[in-house]
Amino acid sequence: MQTWASTPVPRVAGTPRPLRLYDTAAGEVRPTAPGSTAGLYVCGITPYDATHLGHAATYLAFDLVHRQWLDNGHDVNYVQNVTDIDDPLLERAERDQDDWVVLGMRETALFREDMVALRVLPPRSYIGAVESIPEITEAIAKLLAGGHAYRVDDAEHPDIYFDHTATGRFGYESQYPAETMLELFAERGGDPDRPGKRHPLDALLWRVERPGEPSWESELGAGRPGWHVECSVIALNRLGTAFDVQGGGSDLVFPHHENSAAHAEALTGEHPFARHYVHAGMIGLDGEKMSKSKGNLVFVSRLRADQVDPMAVRLALFAGHYRSDRAWTRQLLDEGIHRLGRWRDAALLDTGPTATDTIARLRDHLSNDLDTPSALLAVDAWANEALAGRGSDPTGPTDLRDAVDALLGIDL
Ligand code: ZN
Repeated sequence: MQTWASTPVPRVAGTPRPLRLYDTAAGEVRPTAPGSTAGLYVCGITPYDATHLGHAATYLAFDLVHRQWLDNGHDVNYVQNVTDIDDPLLERAERDQDDWVVLGMRETALFREDMVALRVLPPRSYIGAVESIPEITEAIAKLLAGGHAYRVDDAEHPDIYFDHTATGRFGYESQYPAETMLELFAERGGDPDRPGKRHPLDALLWRVERPGEPSWESELGAGRPGWHVECSVIALNRLGTAFDVQGGGSDLVFPHHENSAAHAEALTGEHPFARHYVHAGMIGLDGEKMSKSKGNLVFVSRLRADQVDPMAVRLALFAGHYRSDRAWTRQLLDEGIHRLGRWRDAALLDTGPTATDTIARLRDHLSNDLDTPSALLAVDAWANEALAGRGSDPTGPTDLRDAVDALLGIDL
C-alpha cells in the first residue's frame, strides 16, 4: 500500500537521551536498546470509519517514539498494517449498502490525509491485509504442519484455530490472569463458545469461505485470515523476531497483541516477538471511552474542516501522558490553541533566552517514557521568558523551534 508523505526532521544540537518506555510485559519502564536500525510495528486501522482522536492519540504517541529514536541517530524501520478485510468492514459496508473495497480505500485515504495534517512521520512499510494473504496463508500452513494450529471439527466450516498452549507462554505479554483473558476475549471480538474449538481462548487464524463473503483461494482452501495472524506475519516478515517495539492502543493488549506474539513465537520457535509491548491510553468524551460502538467519536477530519490547527490537536493530546486514559474536552483544545499561539509568538522573536537548557530538559522528559506534560511545561517556561523580553540570544528562538519540530513534531 502507498504510505503517506513525510516531513523533514531538523537536527537538534546537544546530546540525545536514550529512550526508556513502559513495557506491558515487564510491567515497568525499561530502556529501549535498538541497534543501528530500530524496529517499530504499530497496529493500523480497520478502515470502516474516519480517524477519531483515540486513533490520533495512539499514532502520535508512537510518532514520538519514532522521533526520539531519530534524535538518537537510529535508522527507524517503521511498519504499520491496514486491516482492509475483517468483519467490521463488511458489516459497515452491508449496513450502508457500500462496496467494502471502496469503503476501505476511501477511509484509508482519509486516514493518510489526517496523518499528514498531524505531521505523523510515515511508516516505511504500509501493508494491507489483502495484499499479504499469500504470506499469511504460508504462515498458517506452517503452524498447522507444526501442530500449533488445528481445524475445528465442523464439516461445513472447518475454520483453522491457533492452539493457545503452543508456546507455553500464553499470557506473558498482557500479564492477565485466566479469568481476565476469558472476559476480554469474549468482549473484544473473540468467539469463546465456537463449537469444535479445543479451548475457548484459541483464536481464529483462517475463516473458510462463507456465502456472500469475500474469500481468497489458497493452499488452506478458500477463505480469509483472522486479525491477529495478519499483524503477526506482516511484522515478522519485515522486522524479524525480537524487534524493538510492538505498539497500539491499550485495548489491543489482549487478545490482539498476546496472540500476535504467540503466533509469531510458535512460527519461529523464538522468544520474544517484540522486546517492548507499548500501549497508549484511551481517549474519552463525556466520561466514556471514545469508541465506534458508543457513537461518541470526534473525528480528526471534522476538526480540520472546522479550521482547527492540527498542531493544537497535537498539543492538546500531549498535555496528558500517553499511557493515561484521558478525556477530550473543548477546554483541552482551547488550551492547546492558546499554547500554540504563545509558542509561535515566542519562536518568531528575533532574540530570546538561549535554548540549550530547555532542549536538554525536553529530551530528559521525552526520553523518560514520553513525559509530554513535563516537556510542554519546559517549553512554556522558555516561551514565557522570551515573551517577557528576557534573553538576547539570536539563535534561541530558531534552536527552540527546531527542537520542538524534531522532538515533538510541532511546526511553529
Ligand atoms: Zn495489530
